[in-house]
Amino acid sequence: TIGMLALDNKGNLSGACTTSGAAYKLPGRVGDSPIIGAGLYVDNEVGAATATGMGELMMKTVGCHLVVELMRQGASPQEACRQAVQRIANKLDDFEQFQVGFLALNKQGEYGAFCIQSGFNYAVRDAQGEQLIDAKNLLE
Ligand code: ASP
Repeated sequence: TIGMLALDNKGNLSGACTTSGAAYKLPGRVGDSPIIGAGLYVDNEVGAATATGMGELMMKTVGCHLVVELMRQGASPQEACRQAVQRIANKLDDFEQFQVGFLALNKQGEYGAFCIQSGFNYAVRDAQGEQLIDAKNLLE
């Protein structure tokens, strides 16, 4: 999945995501990316989130909506992503076999990301310039 979140100079949030689909694509499979709340969610009062990894897990937990609601309750973007990943991992006996990652941005311009496995990085562009950041993960 390619997910993008943005905060403009008027303080408005937006987001988009697109997917290449799951490996060994199943005919008729939709995946999480086009499902609002699963692969992408933006609430202009609070924050925005997008996801990558096994879409079925994001759909079952409405994962991006969960990340935004955790931010609404006061979690930082990083902590909201960590809690959502942990909640999914807790439901799996063999969580290290799966990849699930969330990226989040709040109304204040703070951002973060977290995933089950390593190897997920994200790019940030802001007034300070551009950087590539390795997401924290459960297997560290
Ligand atoms: N989330 C996508 C899906 O399950 C896969 C991906 O591109 O990360 O459709």
